[in-house]
Amino acid sequence: AAKGDGRGVHRFYAESMLEGARSRKRMEEDLRVALAQDQLHLAYQPVVSTRDEEIVGFEALLRWRHPELGDISPGQFVPVAEECGLIEQIGEWVLRTACAEAASWPRPARVAVNVSSIQFVKPHLPTLVAQALAQSGLTPERLELEITESVFLNDNHESERKFAALKALGIRLALDDFGTGYSSLGYLRHAPFDKIKIDKSFVRGAVRPGNRNAAIIGAIVSLADTLGMETTAEGVELQDEIDLIRNLGCSHIQGYIYGKPVAVAEVHRMLHEGGGRATPVGLKSLRRS
Ligand code: C2E
Ligand code: MG
Ligand code: MG
Ligand code: MG
Repeated sequence: AAKGDGRGVHRFYAESMLEGARSRKRMEEDLRVALAQDQLHLAYQPVVSTRDEEIVGFEALLRWRHPELGDISPGQFVPVAEECGLIEQIGEWVLRTACAEAASWPRPARVAVNVSSIQFVKPHLPTLVAQALAQSGLTPERLELEITESVFLNDNHESERKFAALKALGIRLALDDFGTGYSSLGYLRHAPFDKIKIDKSFVRGAVRPGNRNAAIIGAIVSLADTLGMETTAEGVELQDEIDLIRNLGCSHIQGYIYGKPVAVAEVHRMLHEGGGRATPVGLKSLRRS
C-alpha cells in the first residue's frame, strides 16, 4: 500500500548501522531501477489566474511509486538523485514527458518543469530543451522552466549565457522558492525571469493579524511588477489566503485550495469539462499538512 507520510520509507532505507551512506546507496540503486522500469510519473498541479480563476497552466511534479514502499516524495529522492548524478537522466525524462503530455492537452495551458541546479549548469541543457520541444510539437511559449536561487551560488557569468540561450528558444523562466535561498537580489538585474514564485513559507500564516509575511509578499510583488515579472503564490490553502494574495497584487495562485497535483487524465478533464476554470475546493476537505 502507498505510504504518503514517508516514515516507512525512512525505516526501509535507514535501518542499517551505516545509516546515511548505505541507505542512500540503496535508494540510488532503486532509483536506477525506477527509471528503467517506468516507476516514475508526473502529477500536475493547476496554476490559476488571480483575476478570473482561469487555469493558465500546470506545474509538473515528479512522483515515484516504489513497488514495495509505495509513493516516495520528491523531497526525499530528488536530493539523492542530485548527489549521485542520476538527476540528469531523470530530469531529461521529466522534460520530455511533460512536453509530450502537455502537447496533447485540450487547451494550450502552460506546463512548468522543475530543473535542478545540477541539471541547469550542464552545457547541453538548451539542446535538450530544444529537442523536447521539437519531438513533442509543444510551442515554446507553453513551456516554463522553474529554477531556484541555488543556481546563482557559484555564479561565474556562465548562468547569464545559459539564460540567454534558453530565452532564445522562446520558453519562459520562473524563479522558484523565491526568498528561501542564500542569494542576494543582485542576480535579478540580469536574469530574464518571466515569473517569481513566492515560496509557501511566506503564504503560511500571512493572514494572521500582525504577521509580517503579508508585508514581505507585498514587497516581492512590487519588486516583480517593477521588473515586469509575474508572481505566483505557492501553497495557498484557504479562502482567506486567496483574498489576501489577490489584494497584495499577485498575478497567480497555486495551492491545494484550487487543487492538489493530479494525474494527467485529470488535467484533460479540468481543461475540457471544467472549461479551464478553477473553483476553490470546500474548506472542510482541506487538511493542513
Ligand atoms: P516545488 O517546485 O516548490 O513544488 C511545489 C511543492 O509544493 C509540491 O510538492 C507541491 O505538491 C507542494 N504544494 C503545492 N500546493 C501546496 C499547498 O497548498 N500546501 C502544501 N502543503 N503543499 C503544496 P512536491 O510535489 O512534494 O515537490 C517538492 C519539491 O520537489 C518541489 O518543490 C521541487 O523542488 C522538487 N521536485 C518535484 N518534481 C521535480 C522534478 O521533476 N525535478 C526536480 N529537479 N525537482 C522536482
Ligand atoms: Mg517548482
Ligand atoms: Mg516552489
Ligand atoms: Mg520547493
